[in-house]
Amino acid sequence: MPQITNHKLVNATYSDLDRNDGNLTPNYIAVHYTAGISVSGSISHLKKVKFGYHVIIDRNGTITQCVPFNKRARHAGVSNWKGLSGLNDHSIGICLANRWYVTRFSNGSYGWVDTHNNPIGSFLIEVQVLKAEHINGAESNLYWEKYTTAQLNAFREVCQVLVQTYSGIKDLIGHDEISMGRKPDPGPAFPFTDFYPLFTNRGNDNGNTFTVQTTDGKLNVRKGMSGNFKLLRQLVNGNKVHIRSEGYMYEENIPKPNGWVSISLEGTMDHIGFVNKSFLRVV
Ligand SMILES: [Zn+2]
Repeated sequence: MPQITNHKLVNATYSDLDRNDGNLTPNYIAVHYTAGISVSGSISHLKKVKFGYHVIIDRNGTITQCVPFNKRARHAGVSNWKGLSGLNDHSIGICLANRWYVTRFSNGSYGWVDTHNNPIGSFLIEVQVLKAEHINGAESNLYWEKYTTAQLNAFREVCQVLVQTYSGIKDLIGHDEISMGRKPDPGPAFPFTDFYPLFTNRGNDNGNTFTVQTTDGKLNVRKGMSGNFKLLRQLVNGNKVHIRSEGYMYEENIPKPNGWVSISLEGTMDHIGFVNKSFLRVV
């Protein structure tokens, strides 16, 4: 079990990505993937682009810390969650080495392709990928590289010691949940529900309550963030829900709210689909 002294994991490698970007009192742990193969490649890229995570976990479970846990790191960008915006101010960022989604080749293996569709990097086999739809509805039935057991065990240990050390931490959130429409990581291969029991305060973090109010009395809950997506269910006027997060679209490279929100039913945490925010009134 790792330990924390002076806001750093004892015995973890430290590779400095601290930008002196202000202090942090963490309320959440935000999880990401590198969209890369090697952690060293990711760290040199992060140095160049001036982004950073508090912790990066390699495929073999090796833990590298890059920013002390009481300092802000630039990992989330434009983001919102349960009424908070700018999750860099509220969360510890943990990133797992993972290739994102991969292509299936005719010989049954999987991997990355270059812009000419030629394979690059090593190949993956069937058990290393998960065919799944993304929660945001936008990318259906892609093959996502699975996280390794060593990596998920290391992630669990880091989460455990963080929750013990920083009592303000309430929940585990994905970059794809707080920057919907902008970011697909950590994607459907990340097993969120395995880790929720570590976050004993998460049940008290439902967020604000909203009431459904439409002119015809019905509100469509959709699979993705537009009226083109499949209808999952209908709510009726007076139903109460919580807004988990608001989605984004880009206008001239600037992310703006797209008017669609991920909701959960009153008193619960789980995403049930997307609705147009204009039909919700704060209680
Ligand atoms: Zn991310």
